[in-house]
Amino acid sequence: MNNPTVKVIEDYCKGCSICVEFCPTEVFDMVGFVAQVVRPEACTRCMLCELRCPDFAVRVY
Ligand code: SF4
Ligand code: SF4
Repeated sequence: MNNPTVKVIEDYCKGCSICVEFCPTEVFDMVGFVAQVVRPEACTRCMLCELRCPDFAVRVY
């Protein structure tokens, strides 16, 4: 399987940091009021971020 790609759609992100809290491998960090993908190589494609983001701002491919 190819490595996962994680993206935050910045226009949708309201900065709640739920993805930062739930990602088991700390792929995200907050930069100001927007979540950023800072450790994409750590993603295990568990999909928690997509499921938990209230604004549909995270996509995992
Ligand atoms: S859970 Fe969604 S809205 Fe909240 S910080 Fe993460 S990407 Fe942004
Ligand atoms: S799919 Fe899982 S491991 Fe990957 S960024 Fe989302 S919460 Fe983190």
